[in-house]
Amino acid sequence: MTDNSTRNKPVSEWKIVYTDFVPEKEKSRETLLTVGNGYVGVRGAVEESLASEIHYPGTYVAGLYNRLVSKVSGKDVENEDFVNCPNGFYMSFQIDGGAFVDLTKVKILSIHRELDFKTGVLDRKIIIEDSSGRQSEVHSQRLASMDNPHILASRYSVEPLNYKGRIRIKSGIDGLIINDGVERYRSLNQHHLKPLDSGREGQISWLTMVTTQSEIIIAQAVLHNCFIDDEAVEVLMQDDIAPGRITQYCEAEIEQNQKFVVEKRLCLYTSKEDDAVDPLQSTLNDLIPISSFEEIKKVSERKWKELWDQIDIRIEGNTNSQMLIRLHLYHLMVTASPHNVSIDAGVPARGLHGEAYRGHVFWDELYILPIYNLFLPDIGKSILRYRFRRLNEARKNAYEHQYEGSMFPWQSGSSGREETQVIHLNPLSGEWGDDYSSLQRHISIAIAYNVWYYFQVTDDLDFMKEEGAELFLDICRFWASKCHENVETGRFEIKKVMGPDEFHEEHPNSPGGGVKDNAYTNLMVSWLFLQAKKIWDQLGEDFQKALKEKIKISAGEIENWQNKAGKMHVEISKSGILAQFEGYFELEELDWDDYRNRYPNIYRLDRILKAEGKSPDDYKLAKQADTLMTFYNLDQHEIIGLLKNQGYSISDSLLSDNYRYYVDRTSHGSTLSRVVHAYLANEMNESVLAWQLYEEALKSDYNDIQGGTTAEGIHAGVMGGTVLMAITSFAGLNFKQDYLKISPKLPASWNGLSFGFAFRTHKYHIRIDREEVYLKIEGMEGEKVKVDISNKEILLQTNYVHRLKY
Ligand code: BGC
Repeated sequence: MTDNSTRNKPVSEWKIVYTDFVPEKEKSRETLLTVGNGYVGVRGAVEESLASEIHYPGTYVAGLYNRLVSKVSGKDVENEDFVNCPNGFYMSFQIDGGAFVDLTKVKILSIHRELDFKTGVLDRKIIIEDSSGRQSEVHSQRLASMDNPHILASRYSVEPLNYKGRIRIKSGIDGLIINDGVERYRSLNQHHLKPLDSGREGQISWLTMVTTQSEIIIAQAVLHNCFIDDEAVEVLMQDDIAPGRITQYCEAEIEQNQKFVVEKRLCLYTSKEDDAVDPLQSTLNDLIPISSFEEIKKVSERKWKELWDQIDIRIEGNTNSQMLIRLHLYHLMVTASPHNVSIDAGVPARGLHGEAYRGHVFWDELYILPIYNLFLPDIGKSILRYRFRRLNEARKNAYEHQYEGSMFPWQSGSSGREETQVIHLNPLSGEWGDDYSSLQRHISIAIAYNVWYYFQVTDDLDFMKEEGAELFLDICRFWASKCHENVETGRFEIKKVMGPDEFHEEHPNSPGGGVKDNAYTNLMVSWLFLQAKKIWDQLGEDFQKALKEKIKISAGEIENWQNKAGKMHVEISKSGILAQFEGYFELEELDWDDYRNRYPNIYRLDRILKAEGKSPDDYKLAKQADTLMTFYNLDQHEIIGLLKNQGYSISDSLLSDNYRYYVDRTSHGSTLSRVVHAYLANEMNESVLAWQLYEEALKSDYNDIQGGTTAEGIHAGVMGGTVLMAITSFAGLNFKQDYLKISPKLPASWNGLSFGFAFRTHKYHIRIDREEVYLKIEGMEGEKVKVDISNKEILLQTNYVHRLKY
């Protein structure tokens, strides 16, 4: 296990700092040092680097994909990828005509890198020594503007420390790159870009590239300014303008301890439908009026400040937690910021930070969206709209599988069609086999749940009338068509699905792959059907009529769903354990101790078992929370209510019984798993266990606990989930009714917690310490708002700070 924290103790609550250069950790650090603004994300690869075993400069634009076909073992395999766009931050230098600096080839005497979450600026100071003993201090700063998301800027300076000489700084925009960020995709075709045009007019140079299949033009323009110390200088500026790559050089005689500085102002637009009609012209329009790096920095910092005023969560007493919560909030904003309101994109599972999962959008939004609902609801809405715009594709998907309504794809990219592979090559046997992971139909549960949660938190009935209700109801219609009545039992069954646990891909009860009656799916579907009626009733006659015309839905159809909701099949053991799927209890028990003894890390038990010639399908084991996921989405009393409504007799210890049963059989092969288990342990008042799991989740990207996956992008779901837990578990806020419930459970190492958020029609400011809650609710003068503190309902006057014991 790599541990970034051992040598790089967080020194600030606002910064991630690295003071060493460890080649094998570099790619994961690049991910964590990404700058961005929701439109674009640029990995924190050092300026002097090109893609190699150590570095991976990557630039990604939200929603920018390209499809390619590759020949794999005789078959054509098509993949849609998140395109790695031209690298605009490339800079390096040479002394007296020597080699251009490559950090892996010089001696690094000192290095200090810090990313400041408050300002979004990545700062690096490094002292290097070349083979002739010449020492140079190289200082660089870079940012992606939070003010104008198309603007990127850097400032690069070289200072000879023990020599004087002719310094030549090279600055490039490199489009002759491929998608090479994920080793296991290397055998596939990864050439997504073709050169289109490049040139220079006056001081501005540009490069345009086009994606090979989606035919999206990516235009970048650049302006340079050079300084010696603080004085602007006109130094020799040579061009090397070639198809796919532009390079410029500035050169000057530099005295010892003088600084040779190059400022680089970049602008990026694409011809994506939601971007620019003439991307090159747009880059020029935006770039010309900007005067300096400082100006870009100043306005961007102002926007970051405005953002932090809305999103910050202040933790008292624990600097590490504070830094990590802000790290996660920062990277969520890099992935989706207020700029995304006009961008047609979902939240890629791995952020705008890397190429894992090809930038696809999964169900991970379920862990992320609540943060936006509470802090920046317009972004939450925009993320839901990405799905709404792809309803027709989801309808087609359902139709092609002989279902009704809308069935969303497990992996979604540009068009909303299914991007998951349906066959895969077994590297051991060389044989092609079925890949059932697209049977994770629970993605459509997550989307409907996200619509419900957004509505629950914002009370945005307009959105429901225009888009949300249609999205929600058409998903319910899909599930209704997937339920089959068992005439013998009178219960409804759902076959051919996979739950969130990806280790179980097939079972004899479900011909054609997947499992039958996955408890999470069946319970959530029952819940969706019940909510459908509530949503329908709130729409009012006019909008009901509009929907009746648009999607031919009727009150009768929704009534029919209520019947199904009360008769779903869930297998329950005598001791009250909900079977993950029908037939689960007959599977073999795994000897967990044996596997723990034999393997240093058993997260990916599926791979271990397959390598031993066994099948994970045969065992009681899970990659991540599956049945328990129901308890993450819904409060225990609601699940008990659902089961009782279906005629099952259930004990009050449903959660703890199931928790204990399943946690012992879970390998946490997905980082999402710890978030769910931590949340549930806290619900069960197991504070020590909750904290242990929470801390692991909080540090999972920082310490790259899966041994390399952070290098391929952040785990946005974990980042969202850990921030959300600070709000829902530790501050103890519950938004699942139309008034706020507060029941704090501060971790032992946190002395206090404070933040602001919007819930329904009010803005709340809350501070929690060990004994009291300080709460101010903004509202109309004289208004009183109902709040529940530790199960006691009270009415609070708006606009006062109330001090309440909990
Ligand atoms: C997890 C999924 C998740 C995906 C993308 C997988 O490892 O099992 O639940 O959606 O990663 O983050």
